[in-house]
Amino acid sequence: MARYCRLMRVIVIGTGAAGASATAELARRGHQVTALERFSRGHVNGSSHGTTRVFRVSYRNRPYTEWAGAAIALWRELEERSGEHLLEQNGQIDHGFDGALAEITANYEAGGWSYERLSAEAAMDRWPGMRFESDVLFSPDGGRVFADRTIEALLRLAEADGADLHFNEPAVAITRDGDGVIVETADGRYAADIVVVAAGAWVTELRGWADFAVALPPLAVTEQFPVHFPIRPGYAFPSWINHNDAEASDYHFHYGAYGLETPGEGLKVGVDQLENFLDLTTRTLEVPAEAFAVAADYAERWLPGVDTSTGSAVSCLFTMTEDSDFVLDRRGPIVVASPCSGHGFKFTPILGRILADLAEAKDHGVEQWRLPA
Ligand SMILES: Cc1cc2nc3c(=O)[nH]c(=O)nc-3n(C[C@H](O)[C@H](O)[C@H](O)COP(=O)(O)OP(=O)(O)OC[C@H]3O[C@@H](n4cnc5c(N)ncnc54)[C@H](O)[C@@H]3O)c2cc1C
Repeated sequence: MARYCRLMRVIVIGTGAAGASATAELARRGHQVTALERFSRGHVNGSSHGTTRVFRVSYRNRPYTEWAGAAIALWRELEERSGEHLLEQNGQIDHGFDGALAEITANYEAGGWSYERLSAEAAMDRWPGMRFESDVLFSPDGGRVFADRTIEALLRLAEADGADLHFNEPAVAITRDGDGVIVETADGRYAADIVVVAAGAWVTELRGWADFAVALPPLAVTEQFPVHFPIRPGYAFPSWINHNDAEASDYHFHYGAYGLETPGEGLKVGVDQLENFLDLTTRTLEVPAEAFAVAADYAERWLPGVDTSTGSAVSCLFTMTEDSDFVLDRRGPIVVASPCSGHGFKFTPILGRILADLAEAKDHGVEQWRLPA
């Protein structure tokens, strides 16, 4: 393949979905990559841990449908390179607010995606573990991705391509050094041509932003507590999104609930708790009883196929822009990957390509992913 970019020293800050994917892709392209991670390998403090995430092409906002569609081939390529099964297209449904279903349908039609529209009764016959009050859209292209396995696969590929991974070594500050950047940690100073900042909820804590004129948009960090409930014998579930708030028509996915079957763990149920703002310095990772009760209440109303008397919940971070759009952009030697507002995992392989292209100064022309001027 022809190369048009000189090889660079790149530091990637953070090894969640965005950082791990960028590290693997930059190393694959031959750059000298060092990744700095605040916590240990496989930690559970950020946004990318856990067994599964929903994969869907069903978006109300068309560019995300297009990008999720484009991600499918990249997931398959990543599976081939890593030898891991990472994307399972076992189907996904949307139900709830009809305006949402109409926008998703328009995007399916525009992209030539297969889908079915079923009445609530027909859908309950087909998926008796779920209850519906609206029509239901079924997408055979949706399903689930395996999150922990993906991160580890990317890190292993990055190492195999020569990347240097430093765990338990948080970046503390970035400062300008000629055309490049110095990244400081408690253990040392690293010089780089380009720094990819993929620090998730901690992105604003890095010292030195003022040196680079990077105007990050307002970001709200909230703590979410998805719960896995045991599945009653005989039931099986596709991945699902319930657009259960008609007020949220400006957003592609707000104030709703989602879930999916995680093999061996049960049905994961997430009820968005977008007012659950968090101070990262005082976080305990404990799951409050009310958070479990919110998911159990939801499941009792909508999911007769699960047992809500017990379940297992985890803490996970949503870091959201005001409109839930991503920020993937570059200012000088700094490439920024926003934490992708609670719906980024499905795009993991494409995020690595975008971030590596930005590091190599290739233009994407995708205005939606730009930083504010
Ligand atoms: C409950 C929940 C459910 C979700 N469900 C879905 C879903 O179904 N489908 C979907 O597509 N997406 C989903 N998402 C969203 C998706 O998981 C996130 O968009 C994605 O994981 C964000 O990855 P990230 O790399 O930006 O952030 P993170 O995973 O948080 O990674 C950031 C990393 O940076 C490290 N770091 C921070 N500061 C520093 C520093 N100073 N130095 C070094 N390292 C640092 C952190 O330790 C962390 O490892 C969900 C998220 C949550 C929380």
